[in-house]
Amino acid sequence: MPDHAESNRYRAITRANINELPEWRRLPEELRDGLQVVSAVLPFKTNAYVVRELIDWDRVPDDPIFALTFLQREMLDAADYAQMAELVRSDAPKAQIKATADEIRGRLSPHPAGQMTHNVPSLGGRALAGMQHKYRETVLFFPAQGQTCHAYCTFCFRWAQFVGNPSTKFESRETADLTAYLRAHPEVREVLVTGGDPMVMKAKVLARYLEPLLTPEFEHIDIRIGTKSVAYWPQRFVTDADADPTLRLFERITANGRHLAIMGHYSHPRELSTEVAQRAVARIRSTGAQIRMQSPLIRRVNDDPEAWAQLWRAGVRLGCIPYYMFVERDTGPKRFFEVPLVRAWEVFRAAYQRVSGLARTVRGPTMSAFPGKVLIDGVAEIAGERVFALQLLQARNPSLVRQPFYAKFDPQASWFSDLRPAFGAEQFFFESASESGFESGFESGPREGRGERPLHLEIVH
Ligand SMILES: *Cc1c(COP(=O)(O)O)cnc(C)c1O
Ligand code: SF4
Repeated sequence: MPDHAESNRYRAITRANINELPEWRRLPEELRDGLQVVSAVLPFKTNAYVVRELIDWDRVPDDPIFALTFLQREMLDAADYAQMAELVRSDAPKAQIKATADEIRGRLSPHPAGQMTHNVPSLGGRALAGMQHKYRETVLFFPAQGQTCHAYCTFCFRWAQFVGNPSTKFESRETADLTAYLRAHPEVREVLVTGGDPMVMKAKVLARYLEPLLTPEFEHIDIRIGTKSVAYWPQRFVTDADADPTLRLFERITANGRHLAIMGHYSHPRELSTEVAQRAVARIRSTGAQIRMQSPLIRRVNDDPEAWAQLWRAGVRLGCIPYYMFVERDTGPKRFFEVPLVRAWEVFRAAYQRVSGLARTVRGPTMSAFPGKVLIDGVAEIAGERVFALQLLQARNPSLVRQPFYAKFDPQASWFSDLRPAFGAEQFFFESASESGFESGFESGPREGRGERPLHLEIVH
């Protein structure tokens, strides 16, 4: 066991050093082999805090935080798994393993044709990599130096950014493009900094990105930072050498009259149960920043109303604001995690029923689909037809927001593209509406047809 000071220092646990963990060596061989094989294809990283304080090793492999960060064999198709297992077992040459991994990843790719240009804003005809602008008020910003995380979620679709394939990387080396874009687009009200996890950056680096936004010219701009660090490495705000400089930066932002929202990706109440996680919340809040909580609903991790109700209650008590429950979009290992839409709604509703109004600021379940953020309001029977009641919480065209619409009920549907309009309609109401409700610089990319699997880079935090 490392001593106290040692356990306060961040140390990544990866494929290369996992065997040093006593907890790991005690596990059945199939689990250990599964990780060795799958992590040849998908990225694996965790850390000592997640392993020692969040995972209950007596419950592995069913433990929710284990499922959240440890790759397991079922996350690959059986044939892909068998092929890679053979290569790993026979100690095949690195190049051969890499070629096979690339081929499998290509099939799982979260960036099919068109994805890299869709919603990417442009200025003077030049595409601005490292930014996305889909909804009028909010620009997403992906700083180049924030493209990793303190641990990786097994379901995460952003793995293309982590596995070192530069052609699928959203990057931005500087804030010049961001500020130029904001100047040209006064309709933008906030910048949402995301990644990876922007909180892997040192305060100094983060400040280089954010301080240019604090000038009077941008006084209409608020700032959100999407991060899982509050759950995976809360020491970032408490005991890390960089914790205090980070909090001072947060204070400069709020002292400037800006709203600073830490969009905390919390998946399970256990993530808020440790003392260090609670101190992180208190310290962040002491800067005047707000913490809003959001997470996807993931089978084996949090497809349990009680887990959500506990999470929201614990968060409210610490001063966090429940924000979104997402439906997980289609990614490589999705079949392992997939939850049908009707089940997502049932979990949301049952959790919502168990909390007071203070936690009912949460909205969900929502899908970040092509037309916008689609809220599943519920299942209803109207004129003898069973339907999903839906609405858009965000849309490119703001005039489409909050208009109820209906899809045929389908107990198997797990994504928006599985849904068909109800009542014999040919199309959903927004499909005839103009796509571009506001004059943004973004290019409109190819439309996905219904029935295809939509794969857009959308935010989880
Ligand atoms: C979810 C999302 C946002 C933020 O939406 P809010 O409803 O304001 O939280 C912005 N851009 C994209 C592309 C998103 O998916
Ligand atoms: S969900 Fe967030 S923390 Fe998890 S791997 Fe993806 S980007 Fe990283």
